[in-house]
Amino acid sequence: MDDRTCVVTGSSRGIGRGIAECFGKQGANVVVNYRRSESAANEVVDRIESTAGRAIAVQADVTDREEVTAMQEATQEAFGRADVVVNNAGINQDVLFSEMSHEQWDTVLDIHLDGAFHSTQAFYDDIAAADEGRLINISSIVGKGGNMGQANYATAKSGIFGFTKTLALELANEGSTANCVAPGFIATSMLDSVPDRLQEDITEDTPLGRLGTVEEVAEVVGFLASEKSSFITGEVIDVNGGKDL
Ligand code: NDP
Repeated sequence: MDDRTCVVTGSSRGIGRGIAECFGKQGANVVVNYRRSESAANEVVDRIESTAGRAIAVQADVTDREEVTAMQEATQEAFGRADVVVNNAGINQDVLFSEMSHEQWDTVLDIHLDGAFHSTQAFYDDIAAADEGRLINISSIVGKGGNMGQANYATAKSGIFGFTKTLALELANEGSTANCVAPGFIATSMLDSVPDRLQEDITEDTPLGRLGTVEEVAEVVGFLASEKSSFITGEVIDVNGGKDL
């Protein structure tokens, strides 16, 4: 990944942090995007710079088109064109559908779908012009199978499948690829809202008998970002310990 520039949305914490650090270890230039967690993002930058990579932290709310455009400009200024963009930023607001407010619906769809739209539009020309550009979207096992209390989140994550497959067709003309990673249940703060009893059930239902780690997702994203994945596009790669909802 030497001389490759990788943008990871929502990489101050969790899976995004793992992906950013994985790129950094491989010598990439990394844009660590965050919305609120500035000090955590700066720590990720420090960790990357203590390994083989170079990094900058950039504040941008992915739901805000102008902030995302400014992130593209900051990337250009620091490192030149982006080669790899990972749409990872996300949140959940879980509630049974019968009790879901329109605001809860909109908030979750905005971050996952409008967020992916904004960052992919801002960086589309970069990915297309790159030598083997890469778009990698983080979806979820829930986008495939649905999940109680997650109608908003499951809808957003399913949408990411269609988005990825269409971008794969359009980017193929430019020699670039688009793929999707669908993690199962991964130990991050996103699971804080899931009651312990439910987490135990999830673990029991997972053939490998545990939650996944951010590093296990990051390694797959690292592969998709590399030249080793050159003939893979429009795919959804599951990283879920064998759990099939
Ligand atoms: P975390 O809550 O640990 O981290 C979320 C990250 O997204 C933070 O860096 C946060 O930034 C950032 N973020 C949230 N909203 C925005 C926004 N509007 N603009 C920019 N950045 C934002 O979540 P995970 O690491 O668990 O999740 C990462 C991705 O993986 C999400 O898309 C999620 O849906 C997906 N996923 C997670 C699974 C899991 O089990 N954990 C399973 C399957 C998929 P800040 O710190 O500044 O708020």
